[in-house]
Amino acid sequence: MYKIGILTSGGDAPGMNAAVRAVVRTAISHGARPFAIYDGYQGMIDNRIKEFGWRDVGGILHKGGTIIGTARCAAFRTREGRLAAAENLLSHGIDKLVVCGGDGSLTGANLFRLEWDSLLAELVETGRIMPESAEKHATLTLAGLAGSIDNDLCGTDMTIGADTALHRITTAIDQISSTAASHQRSFVVEVMGRNCGYLAMMGAIAAGADWALIPESPPNLDNWEDKMCAVLREGRKTGRRDSIVVIAEGARDRHGNPISSDYVKQVLEERLGEDTRLTILGHVQRGGAPTVYDRNLSTLTGAEAVRATLDPDNAGKAFLIGTKGNKISQIDLEEALGLTQKVAEAIANKDFELAMSLRGSSFRQAFRILRTLVRALPHDPDPDKDRIRIALLNAGAPAPGMNTAVRAAVRLGVDKGHEMLAVRNGFRGLIRGDLIEQDWMSVNGWVNTGGAELGSNRKIPTGSDFYAIARNLEENNIQALLIIGGWSGYKAAHELYSRRREFPAFDIPIVCLPATIDNDLPSSELSVGCDTALNSITEAVDKIKQSAVASQRVFVVEVMGRTCGYLALMSALATGAERVYLPEEGVTLRDLQSDVQQLIDGFEHGKRLGMVICNEAVNPIYDTRFISALFEEEGGELFDVRHAILGHLQQGGDPSPFDRIQASRLALECLEQIEKSVAVGGSDSVMVGLVRSKINKTSFDQMMRQMDMETERPLNQWWMEIRPIARTLAAPVAQAVG
Ligand code: ADP
Repeated sequence: MYKIGILTSGGDAPGMNAAVRAVVRTAISHGARPFAIYDGYQGMIDNRIKEFGWRDVGGILHKGGTIIGTARCAAFRTREGRLAAAENLLSHGIDKLVVCGGDGSLTGANLFRLEWDSLLAELVETGRIMPESAEKHATLTLAGLAGSIDNDLCGTDMTIGADTALHRITTAIDQISSTAASHQRSFVVEVMGRNCGYLAMMGAIAAGADWALIPESPPNLDNWEDKMCAVLREGRKTGRRDSIVVIAEGARDRHGNPISSDYVKQVLEERLGEDTRLTILGHVQRGGAPTVYDRNLSTLTGAEAVRATLDPDNAGKAFLIGTKGNKISQIDLEEALGLTQKVAEAIANKDFELAMSLRGSSFRQAFRILRTLVRALPHDPDPDKDRIRIALLNAGAPAPGMNTAVRAAVRLGVDKGHEMLAVRNGFRGLIRGDLIEQDWMSVNGWVNTGGAELGSNRKIPTGSDFYAIARNLEENNIQALLIIGGWSGYKAAHELYSRRREFPAFDIPIVCLPATIDNDLPSSELSVGCDTALNSITEAVDKIKQSAVASQRVFVVEVMGRTCGYLALMSALATGAERVYLPEEGVTLRDLQSDVQQLIDGFEHGKRLGMVICNEAVNPIYDTRFISALFEEEGGELFDVRHAILGHLQQGGDPSPFDRIQASRLALECLEQIEKSVAVGGSDSVMVGLVRSKINKTSFDQMMRQMDMETERPLNQWWMEIRPIARTLAAPVAQAVG
């Protein structure tokens, strides 16, 4: 029987617990034996290694840090230390390791693997292990999980903990903005990132900061201080009440000299004469409950790490298990570490172009968006460029991030010299002719507000509405339409598109940007708003679980999503719910009978808490109330049942950093699409979205082929393949606890 060791090492990162849970439970479900190694390499050297069972990792998904501890261990850097580590692993029969840690931890792990042969030979020679043991465990197989809040590892799009850290940073800057605005102050906010500007750059985009300094791309001027101050001064003149500069701890100038946050504060005080405060966010960035993204990234990569290390073809190899283009990925660990090293070297050698190119196209694009958005005022219009009159509107139920998308579209549009008009109240407003010209400051402060400031509803035009819309488009000389919203917006857009012959006013580029918490749109794997909704659901479920610590209780929680089970499945994965009902699968009386029996068996074997997540449209008869009543009746004395319908809290709340960043990124793409069409006198109408983390554009004709019009959801949904993992990791009957 295979034995797998799991350790967490280096700086702790939120999400490490989910990785430990996934490794332990996946190993058990594959018939292997998992061993937790405490406090990173120190526990390996001190032989603090303990076999874990299913329940040892129950109830830890929501916890920050790592329950098995982490440490920095100088002894592991020595051969003597690694000899002891190998000896101890062999004393448990472990020759497969999953290491969750940063660049340093994974470098150490790889060295250990490469030396394994010679370490075992020396241990045999000195009589510390038996030759048979060395023969039996001739190779060490290694899977690395990138555990680092800085997002500084190459070979994966995201590291475990980075999304949570970005949440902490964004919330902190939101809060600082409100106090800064009250006093008209300037703030310098220092965030982590020695060689990686991800947190500073994304934090600045997400929170709408006014300037950012990152290690990979220093200001390309010697007098960058003048430029920064000029932009901030302009910002004040145009009405901004606060100025916020975000700086990565590893920021430097183009000569490689460090730029300290103290220095930036001093510059702002001296040159702008402003009352400036400095906040160094420090360890709060690491702390607290992991976000849904980090929990699910850890869970999915942890499960894959076990699969990879158990594969006999992989004996003696080392992989980094991460994510590429929204899919779990596996690359050679040495290659990943080599690339990471190259970025650090490029920065040290002041080859910033190489550093930026190694970071990849999404990173570069984000930096470009940041540079445009921080500008206090738009550029003077380019006289050679066409000015386009663009109307934009929200449509469908409100989704967090709609305002961010409108803000980005207006600012990027104005910056490009276009005339931007906002339509109030969705298609109702377009029918009434309720359009208002926008300028740079009309969307000030919209980056972080939930809801839809412009107003949004599910109106789909019919009959005479089309005449009214055509007239309003013509009277306002609208040359392009940008619709930011959900399925009803897409349908309405399609209605206009299909009436082009009748109404020439509709023969303009019509572009849709996906914004709905339901994540049920064609042409995009993720829509703006669903990340925020998932985090809201998960926070609520965490609280509901906490409320039940002392009782024998089953909760049935109903979540939104209309006919799409995305929110239900992903929140079940993030909260460790043991059963999830999806509209794609439906639910039958037989399912319910078997589920009730499983719950009864579980509670008879010591289970204290049950969590079931149910999509709102899973079955018209067997709905949340029905399922709760059935479980309650059948549970008898063994457990009681409560249901919670989460309702509109899922559509509200401040948008998450991910939703804000996607909203800004997609808005830029939509504008560029409109420009491209207008430039050639065309009227291409497309939906812009994200597929495998890359921008994807789909024509309206293709859209209809991608949709199941009866259920109103896409025919192919990428996340459906995650269902087996969610099922495996949910507690099995006899052992279940959270
Ligand atoms: P992180 O993994 O977060 O980058 P560190 O760089 O501090 O954190 O590394 C964590 C631990 O990994 C170190 O304390 C040490 O035990 C081990 N380690 C790091 N680099 C090496 C190395 N080159 N050789 C052996 N062990 C190493």
